[in-house]
Amino acid sequence: MEKGARAVAGFLGTAECPASSGPGCGTLRNGIMHTDTMAPVTCKICDSTALDILAHTARCKDCGVLLYYPYPEASQPNFVTEDEKLNWYSASAQFNHDNFTHMLRYAMEGQPMSASLSILDFGGGGGQFAPICKSMFPRAAVCLVDINDDSALNGWAPFSRRIPFKDFASDSTMFDVIFLNDVFEHLHDPVGTLHLLAGKLNDGGRMFIDTPRQFWIYPLSRLLARKLHLSVLRGTVSLAHLQIWSDRAFRVATERARLRVVKSSTWAEFTMPWEFYVNNMGITNPVLRFAARAAYKASGLILRNKIACVLGK
Ligand SMILES: [Zn+2]
Repeated sequence: MEKGARAVAGFLGTAECPASSGPGCGTLRNGIMHTDTMAPVTCKICDSTALDILAHTARCKDCGVLLYYPYPEASQPNFVTEDEKLNWYSASAQFNHDNFTHMLRYAMEGQPMSASLSILDFGGGGGQFAPICKSMFPRAAVCLVDINDDSALNGWAPFSRRIPFKDFASDSTMFDVIFLNDVFEHLHDPVGTLHLLAGKLNDGGRMFIDTPRQFWIYPLSRLLARKLHLSVLRGTVSLAHLQIWSDRAFRVATERARLRVVKSSTWAEFTMPWEFYVNNMGITNPVLRFAARAAYKASGLILRNKIACVLGK
């Protein structure tokens, strides 16, 4: 649902973008995507050709994933300048303090505080995860990788060791735990990246992913309220958020990377105040804004916008 609290982890796989050029590419006219040829384009998660194109998105009728379309050639960094970083984290840091604590308790259940763990924060952006992780596991060694090598804030950077993005694929460091918080939706090649990360897990290691999922408003608005549905697509699928997962698509992606689910859940989790999401969708109607605020406040009961999953080899 949200834009992503952290700078984006990026393209590490080798698959070519099937729609980046040539047959299957589309053009955006008046907000509606028109495909230029009838050449088949496949779902990048399950390889199905059953894609439903609407505006700037493609929905796979087989696995259900909602994709930014046409596929871009690479992931994009979220923040480049210091001001962009500070603006984002000044609004999100307090949310993420709670979010990181919650996900660490979920993923590290049973681990003693004294465990000497090698931990990777993949796509870790500002680096806020590391000090919170080390407050719970002081002997842990945290590495940080991000598509933007300058993403970390000065106050948080000392708590992790940076591995340059271009060196990561060939780096020999192995990990006991890999965290992808609000990263999986940004990846140009999510299955290829999972393959790479799985190869960096020690025996018995675990990977934690949390990422936006399609909850009830997606199918409901698609069937009953086209204008609202287009607002939802505009607000949640972008060059930053390249895929919004269905539960089935998420399962397919992890199976293709030969990872098994240790445990999974669906959560209500936000990194920004409610106005951020509603403004992104372009919703100005006061009644709709009131309804959106009420849904946000009651999200623990009615709005499960995240998949949270622990994976093992
Ligand atoms: Zn699919």
